Amino acid sequence: MFELVANLHMHTPYSDGFGSHAEIAQAAIRAGIDVVIVTDHNVLVAGPEEIYRDGDRRVLLLVGEEVHDQARQPQKNHLLVFGANREMANYASDPQFLIESVRQAEGYSFIAHPVDPAAPAFHEPDISWVNWDIQGYTGIELWNGMSEFKSLLKSRLHAIYYAFNPRRVAHGPFIETLRRWDELLSAGKKIAVIGGSDAHAFQARMGPLHRILFPYEFHFHAINTHILTPQPLNGDLYTDRQLVHNALAIGRAYIGYDLPAPTRGFRFTAQGKDQIAWMGETISSRFGVTFQIRLPRPAECLLIKNGKVIKTWLKRENCTYITSESGAYRVEVYLPFLGKRRGWIFSNPIYLE
Ligand SMILES: [Zn+2]
Ligand SMILES: [Zn+2]
Repeated sequence: MFELVANLHMHTPYSDGFGSHAEIAQAAIRAGIDVVIVTDHNVLVAGPEEIYRDGDRRVLLLVGEEVHDQARQPQKNHLLVFGANREMANYASDPQFLIESVRQAEGYSFIAHPVDPAAPAFHEPDISWVNWDIQGYTGIELWNGMSEFKSLLKSRLHAIYYAFNPRRVAHGPFIETLRRWDELLSAGKKIAVIGGSDAHAFQARMGPLHRILFPYEFHFHAINTHILTPQPLNGDLYTDRQLVHNALAIGRAYIGYDLPAPTRGFRFTAQGKDQIAWMGETISSRFGVTFQIRLPRPAECLLIKNGKVIKTWLKRENCTYITSESGAYRVEVYLPFLGKRRGWIFSNPIYLE
């Protein structure tokens, strides 16, 4: 398997972001990112989808869409749509119909910022997902960089502090989001996860101060989705796009918070009698399965089955666990960074049947 670092969920001036597709591509190349997916609100801007190059470095820039019902107050239920072959914004008023339409358009859908608390000091409403009776979506955006920032905005002073100390913002996905995901997994559903930066490069003015809040390049060093593909990217837009979409759709990926330390090289596999399963895949538990976890450096590693921690390793790089019990197994890894325990890696599940 080959590993690609992808940064997902960002906005341009086609909705409420401040940088162009070309500027995003340049920032991604500088940061060493392989793939970005731009998702403007309620508009599919397909034209800029291409491979951008700078010397011998390149980035695959794909375009999706973040769809929500603009007539709804407050404007909850945001859905990230990747790979659809047409505009989906017209279906926003009915989330279930929207999800089905995405599938018919050969796309797949992730619930964006499932928990997104209000920030009353800035008159920002709660825009969480609320229609949980839906079926047939691909997955959820487990960790969203901007929702976490919003959750810290208790006052203007807090906002200034975190705007100037962006490295102190991220701690991990919200507990409520993790719990929701584990409930779905425990009920036997297959739900893939991604991490999203929700980058806007907002321009902030505070008196004489002018600052870009969270430039794209900052996000590209922070919450990334690392994708595993059977072949490397080969520079052909159509094939490369397909490789990325196929991996995201099944969840052959993990979320890596690359700011404290690079997460590249993390692996979580299950070895069965005559099969090996990667994240997002299903394997028979009948003859027993050995999980193998490899960390890029020693850290606190948790193996979780249907929402329950079944094993914890401290300061280890290689962890193994043998079982013959069915269920959805996933991994969380934590590191100390800037005086706090912070989420570092969140894997997609391996399903044992
Ligand atoms: Zn949103
Ligand atoms: Zn967004």
